[in-house]
Amino acid sequence: MTRFLIFVEQKGDEPRKASLEILSKAYGLAVSGDASVEAVAVGPVSENVKEKVLPYVSRFVQIAGPGLDSYTAEGVAAALGIYAQESKPDVILAGATNLGRDFFPRLAVLLGSGIASDATEMDIRDGAIHFVRPMYGGKVLSEVSFTATPALATIRPNAYPVTQPGEARGEFVTKEVDVSGTIKTKVIRVERQDRKRADLTEAETIVAGGRGMKAQENFQLLEDLAEVIGATVGASRSVVDAKWRDQEDQVGKSGKTVSPKLYIAAGISGAIHHIMGMDTSKVIVAINRDPEAPIFNVATYGIVGDLFEVVPALTAEFRKRLAR
Ligand code: FAD
Repeated sequence: MTRFLIFVEQKGDEPRKASLEILSKAYGLAVSGDASVEAVAVGPVSENVKEKVLPYVSRFVQIAGPGLDSYTAEGVAAALGIYAQESKPDVILAGATNLGRDFFPRLAVLLGSGIASDATEMDIRDGAIHFVRPMYGGKVLSEVSFTATPALATIRPNAYPVTQPGEARGEFVTKEVDVSGTIKTKVIRVERQDRKRADLTEAETIVAGGRGMKAQENFQLLEDLAEVIGATVGASRSVVDAKWRDQEDQVGKSGKTVSPKLYIAAGISGAIHHIMGMDTSKVIVAINRDPEAPIFNVATYGIVGDLFEVVPALTAEFRKRLAR
């Protein structure tokens, strides 16, 4: 039986969707008898997070102590490292979110473990854990297994659906550790942004615009479409470089890696640097007036046309259909 330890990331009073997705997958493996699942969070844990996580696990461990009230990569990695050495899991997982990408490699070093980053699939075969991770901008899928435990991996958000667990609930325990001596950074200020829509990395639907949008104000067309279908707006790097959108909206190699159910790309040519951030989207719709645009090579559906006609037409049609 494979023993999972899953890091629960929190956003305010909620567990992050990426964490619930991993818990759902591991819970499924536990139900089929292949695994046992323990969750761990570092720092304060709200009642709501406890309520949402406990049904997926046999045990939910909160690690608390000096230096752990605010996030630092050193603190979280050290705290988890101490707990992992004690509990000896076979596999430790976190979401491939900004935070997971930040501290997990450090945890791997502390534990002397291997790591599979940004995996899109995981499975247990013959008692061993296997991960699939896209490489070279998604051109190659590599399968990774481990020769030693614990095996560490970050899982790309939206790789698995969130499923409802059963009625049973695990126990909640708190462990005290003092990692203050290892923390070399000081959090001075944390600014939370009030965003109406899901973060790009967790969004199930994304409407992204490229240089073909022509001007900052034209992004209102994409905002309107996003409003109707409940999407988050993304952008290519050209758009961010032109200061039409914030850097946090950028999808691609030097931006965010996204994996939504639906990715609509308007006026984006499909340069490899963009494609590598979005090619694991389940359905890709490309709108481009150039029939030779490389984005059509990865698109599930291609619309060759002027986005200034196509996008408002889509918005109007979705509005009509969704109002029914
Ligand atoms: P363009 O390539 O200029 O494409 C605009 C498209 O709009 C064209 O295909 C055109 O046919 C179409 N169009 C124009 N008008 C219309 C219209 N009216 N209707 C419909 N279609 C229209 N790029 C990223 O996106 N993300 C990254 O993270 C990223 N990282 C990079 C990292 C490095 C190291 C480097 C070197 C580059 C990176 N780039 C990244 C840049 C990338 O190589 C491309 O330059 C960029 O993605 C192009 O953006 P674009 O598709 O919006 O613009």
